[in-house]
Amino acid sequence: MDAIDLIAELRSETCRCGRRKQSRQTFCRSCYFSLPSPARSDIYKRVGSGYQQAYDAAVALLDHQESSGADSRGAKEFGTDATHGRRA
Ligand SMILES: [Zn+2]
Repeated sequence: MDAIDLIAELRSETCRCGRRKQSRQTFCRSCYFSLPSPARSDIYKRVGSGYQQAYDAAVALLDHQESSGADSRGAKEFGTDATHGRRA
C-alpha cells in the first residue's frame, strides 16, 4: 500500500475489517485493542516516518490473529497451526 492509499484509509470511516471507525484513526476499536501495545503506539507515526511499516506490521498481526480462529482463511500463508495456544 502506498502513502496515498494509507491516507485515504485514514480518512475513511470504515476499518479494514469492515466495521466503522473514526476518521483519522487507523483501525476500529476492535482491531486497535487486539494489537500488542508496541504496535498500537507505532501506528501514531507519521506517514513517511515509519507509519507505512507500522501499518503493514499491524495488518500482518491482525491477519494472523484472524487466521488463527476457527475460520481457515489465510491460514495457509502463515502456517499457524503449530503456534496455537502459545499466546503470552
Ligand atoms: Zn477493524
